[in-house]
Amino acid sequence: TEDILRVNGLSTRFFTEQGQVNAVSDLDLRIERGEVVGIVGESGSGKSVTARSVIDLIESPGEITEGEIWFNEPDLADAVADDYPEAVDGSFVNLLEVPKQVRRSLRGSSFSMIFQDPESSFNPSLTVGEQIAEAVEVQQRASANPRSTRAKTQEYSLGRLMLSTVLPSKKYVSEASRERAIELLELVGIPDPVERADEYPHEYSGGMLQRAMIAQALAGEPDILVADEPTTALDVTIQAQVLDLLDDLQDETGMTILLITHNLGVVARMCNRVGVMYAGEIVERGTLEDVFDDHVHPYTEGLLGSIPDLESAGGRLEPIPGNVPSLLDHEMPDRCYFADRCPKAMEDCLSHPPEYEGRGTDEHEVRCVLATQEYSEARALSADYFGKDD
Ligand code: SF4
Ligand code: MG
Repeated sequence: TEDILRVNGLSTRFFTEQGQVNAVSDLDLRIERGEVVGIVGESGSGKSVTARSVIDLIESPGEITEGEIWFNEPDLADAVADDYPEAVDGSFVNLLEVPKQVRRSLRGSSFSMIFQDPESSFNPSLTVGEQIAEAVEVQQRASANPRSTRAKTQEYSLGRLMLSTVLPSKKYVSEASRERAIELLELVGIPDPVERADEYPHEYSGGMLQRAMIAQALAGEPDILVADEPTTALDVTIQAQVLDLLDDLQDETGMTILLITHNLGVVARMCNRVGVMYAGEIVERGTLEDVFDDHVHPYTEGLLGSIPDLESAGGRLEPIPGNVPSLLDHEMPDRCYFADRCPKAMEDCLSHPPEYEGRGTDEHEVRCVLATQEYSEARALSADYFGKDD
């Protein structure tokens, strides 16, 4: 299978009053067309910023400061090759080397995102059906002339402008887009979609609105769906239903999904490959088997120990003691960022942050000294050591 996305050396910083926050550092990510790749980590590990960086949703004071995001889209490559030759490599386009409006024009049709909080995706004063129809319309305008990115961009903004002035009263752009919206609601399992299309977001339950958001995200038939904690806000039963839905949609459409979650249980169920994030870096990556059966990083081990049970609400969580370290540049230590919480820390971990090391299969990479050296009880430092040192 070919790659659809290659992210190289991505760094995203936030320039705050307290100083520079290294939210994502030197991140590499490869996604094949049609696969589901998971990024897992605790909150504050940088996984949402990674997702938002990929889809160009970083806003001031945040900024992508380094890296390349290569998107495999032959039509786009053709369209921008003359004006931005540096940004094109075969059928790949480096999205960070083309103007922002070109990137923005890909939203919906190439990339779509679903969030933890569906309220944020809907305007409370328009019906759910109208808003999904709007997403359908925008995509149709955009794809009317797929070879001209400039036209696509203009049509897109024009489409939004028109819709925002035309739609406040309850009116669909066209009967066809209304029908498509109802089809999409049906696809994501909304009962009585014809009636529900005319309801407002507040009339939907949390789980139903989550489904409606997925319908809206699918309206543009995106190549890549970025799902950021899509089920976290839902109760366990509904979580399982929404994951089933995503899984089914993925099987049916062959859509590529980048799934962001703190839950390795969700990863196990959905993903082909996974990256484990800690303190703005991927600390272990590999296939599902690499990460579940042959993991090396003690942080991965810790996350595996805290998998909540999706089936029973009483599932026990064993969180890893301690907190994600500060990502303020001047506070980040010159040692493994996990050392203060790591039960296997040893002297080598304290001299400098570990490099990536391959392990076994091609896909498996780990940022931990244990990847290259045998862990030895004798070299482990006791928790007391850290107490005294700090
Ligand atoms: Fe633990 Fe050392 Fe590996 Fe860091 S490098 S995770 S401190 S064993
Ligand atoms: Mg699947």
